[in-house]
Amino acid sequence: MATLVSKVQATVDFEKNGKQFGYLDVPHSRDDSGWGTLRVPIAVVKNGSGPTILFTGGNHGDEYEGQVALVKLARALDPKDVAGRVIMIPFLNYPAARASRRTSPIDAVNMNRAFPGERRGTVSQLIAHYVSTLILPLCDLVMDFHAGGRTMTYQPFACIHRLEDRPLFDRTKAALLALGAPISLVLQELDAEGMLDTQVESMGKVFVSAELGGAGTTTPTTVGIADRGCRRLLAHLGITRPTAENTPPTRFMDTSGPGCYTISNHGGLFEMLAELGATVKAGDPLAQIHSMERPEEAPIVYRAARDGMLIGRHHPAVIQQGDFMALVAYDA
Ligand code: CA
Repeated sequence: MATLVSKVQATVDFEKNGKQFGYLDVPHSRDDSGWGTLRVPIAVVKNGSGPTILFTGGNHGDEYEGQVALVKLARALDPKDVAGRVIMIPFLNYPAARASRRTSPIDAVNMNRAFPGERRGTVSQLIAHYVSTLILPLCDLVMDFHAGGRTMTYQPFACIHRLEDRPLFDRTKAALLALGAPISLVLQELDAEGMLDTQVESMGKVFVSAELGGAGTTTPTTVGIADRGCRRLLAHLGITRPTAENTPPTRFMDTSGPGCYTISNHGGLFEMLAELGATVKAGDPLAQIHSMERPEEAPIVYRAARDGMLIGRHHPAVIQQGDFMALVAYDA
């Protein structure tokens, strides 16, 4: 028997015109199901030739705006209104999404550190490998929706990375601005190796992401940004007809300079002193940490290292040494 490119089997045909709901069937032999399969939902809407876009949600399971927006988009899209192909995977790390966890409860893998995946890996690595080898080559643009998950919250933004390939960066920035989030950001990643982002960019394709809300839930505002962003990106690529509305103004910001990230060096009771979205000056207090072992001690105050907007924060009321605490973005 010839070796298959992937052990994952799609029940959809990516070349077929029309709308299909199906699954990526991932072999998952286990104690309670010897010949078991993990079925990851996927939807494809195709009509004739044209660009291909991949939308993903649930790359981190506890980040839900993309998951909500993509199940709605998949149901609503009519192949008649499409020129090209729209591939939607609402729950990329499906077991994690079901469990409201960042990582998979099956193999503890963080999907967004698992790319390009492994052909003979665990279920998460198999999914990443299938996407890398059999879906990404079809795509012109990938839009991957994120949020803060259970441990972070954000002032909602869409984001891209600074890329050495200038023409690719220019096309990526055009897609970012077309998405029309209230804030459009150049995001400096703390750890980019193994991310879907990095894999797509390394293939010379346009990659756009977003960080919308957090705390493991959604709001009408954050889902609305995802809903409208999907529609505008489809029109931007010419897959659907242009919408009547003008792209709303977006605030273009950056986090790739020094002093944007604050990481906690203390553990304890976490008290935020600035609101998300607030304008801060260098030296302004961001948060303070109270000792839970010695409450008589004065709290440790953390201050902004530069001027900007508080755009991301640690969410739980208890913080540990090494936790991400705050992200300040500045106008680009
Ligand atoms: Ca995430």
